[in-house]
Amino acid sequence: MTKRIAALMVLLASLAGCATSPTGRSQLILISDAELAQMGVQAFDQMRQEVPVSKDPKLRERVRCVVEAITAQVSAPYRWEVEVFDADEVNAFALPGGKIGVFKGLFKAAENQHQLAAVIGHEVAHVMARHAAARVSQQLVTQLGVSVVAAGTGVHPDLIGMGADLLLTLPYSRADESEADILGLTYMARAGFDPRESLALWRNMAREAGPRPVEFLSTHPAPETRMRELERHLPQALALYEEARAAGRTPRCDS
Ligand SMILES: [Zn+2]
Repeated sequence: MTKRIAALMVLLASLAGCATSPTGRSQLILISDAELAQMGVQAFDQMRQEVPVSKDPKLRERVRCVVEAITAQVSAPYRWEVEVFDADEVNAFALPGGKIGVFKGLFKAAENQHQLAAVIGHEVAHVMARHAAARVSQQLVTQLGVSVVAAGTGVHPDLIGMGADLLLTLPYSRADESEADILGLTYMARAGFDPRESLALWRNMAREAGPRPVEFLSTHPAPETRMRELERHLPQALALYEEARAAGRTPRCDS
């Protein structure tokens, strides 16, 4: 391990970056988007090897439909890809590089396309706000004990592997979760999904929370705080929703 860290330190330049998230918070970013995307792709492949994918065509189509509508509202330099996993977890995730995973168990909480869109919007928001960059950067610094910075190209494969593991295991901070809630609300509304349904979704999520913490609940603000925040942003989201409908964005993913 010491040898590996030494090797990494030699390979890495030391230059810390600070970026601003879409809602104006500053973040410590030490890894380039390209490197993060590499980590995301590796983590996604790992997940696909470890968890069976759903063969239910209706379910897959419903998820694909919602993902397509939501991601049409954001601009990212890659093609979004989604996989439905045949597992009971009430959960979903999105990784840098645009890789989205939905667990079949999520449908215990997401009762219609609008509620599914609330989840997908939230997850896509984590990616668009580059939350993983700050999270992985901080953790690598902690683990390696130095200001680790991957220079733009030629990152050591060990670092990509470590980052991929971190992406699948590290929880987001509460601030990240709140930001993803509000951004996600905007995305779903702009895509033509009813933002009011987000409240029902998060209520259902809290109800379905088992003994294992899920991504949504592990570091989230108390449900009441979350509901209050969502309600506060609802009027703006409803305006966007009406605009979307007027523009003909009326997704039909449930049929
Ligand atoms: Zn989240």
